[in-house]
Amino acid sequence: MTGNDSERVQLEGIYFDGRSSRDRTARLTVQGDQVTLQADADGVSGGTEARWQLSQVTIDPSLPGIRRVLKFPDRTRFETRDDAAIRAIEQRTRRNRALGGVRKLEGSWGLTFAALGLMAAFVWGFIAFGLPAIARGAAAATPGRVLTTFDRETVDLLDKPPYLGPSKLSAARQAELQREFRQVMGWAGGAYSYRLLLRDGEPKDDGNDSFGGFPLGANAFALPGGTVVMTDQLVALARNDRELLGVLAHESGHVTHRHGLAGVYQALGLTLLTTVVTGDLVSAGTFAAAAPAALLQRGYSRAAETQADEVAGAFMLAKYGTTKPLRDILARLENKDAGADEKSAEGKGADEKGVQSSSRVEDLLQSHPGTANRIEHLRALEQAAK
Ligand SMILES: [Zn+2]
Repeated sequence: MTGNDSERVQLEGIYFDGRSSRDRTARLTVQGDQVTLQADADGVSGGTEARWQLSQVTIDPSLPGIRRVLKFPDRTRFETRDDAAIRAIEQRTRRNRALGGVRKLEGSWGLTFAALGLMAAFVWGFIAFGLPAIARGAAAATPGRVLTTFDRETVDLLDKPPYLGPSKLSAARQAELQREFRQVMGWAGGAYSYRLLLRDGEPKDDGNDSFGGFPLGANAFALPGGTVVMTDQLVALARNDRELLGVLAHESGHVTHRHGLAGVYQALGLTLLTTVVTGDLVSAGTFAAAAPAALLQRGYSRAAETQADEVAGAFMLAKYGTTKPLRDILARLENKDAGADEKSAEGKGADEKGVQSSSRVEDLLQSHPGTANRIEHLRALEQAAK
């Protein structure tokens, strides 16, 4: 008797109904998964036919000289001496059990994928919503001493070519700008170590005349502790100092709202997450060193820019009764930047004035394509103040 599942196995034996000790001659047929029991009638009971699934049938282990016993869920049983047939049925049951195991495994794979999907959704949610919230919280809670350290280390990193060089403005002009910056400082408030660093945003590398692909150009940006860097190129771009003060007030808004720090924490949070997921220990080693770059390359969210513009707008309105100077310089930066994009597409680094305008340090220049909206918003602030 071989065990093809579709093959019919039939065997003779004895049926016990479990209620009396009387036994009846019976036939058991197994076909596929279906077990059919037919017991003959005796003087007391009529003929019986019952059907079960093979999986419902318990087969007792074989013992030498003892009839094989099959038990059914209703506590009836079938006994037979046809050991070979029982063994064929047992094989079939085992195979079914093994298949059942595979089915269970498939079930658990489904569960695994579902769990992975859930995990992916969670990670995505964390990155999209949790991380920014945590980053903002951490930024707000960071003590001033840490901010000052952060500023110092970032300036150390930036204060050499190809990033920044000493300002080429005259000492008198620098003193004038410093004096004006103190107005912004006094207005911005908060316990920050405000200072204005005037720098050349396009320092030449020794000898090779290259900017190293990372020029700041006409730019201004704030570090978390209150350090504001403004380049000679931005000073040159401005038509008057009101424009520059508008920019500096905007930067002070990034400081007081701690935008830069939140961005850094968010970027480093992702780095940390990547490090954990990939087990990349090299990344862990460069973790601390990544902070200044994260600050400078990320730029700010649109929401952060709007918030900083509102700070600047309030400053301009209080001091000059108009936001126009800031709107003007934003528009000029935007146009300049658009020109630079065309040039860089042609593979040229600098425009005719020798001003390298494609910038990877993005604060003001990052504003495009949002510049039109920002200018409109600043105009609306002025309208609302009237
Ligand atoms: Zn900004």
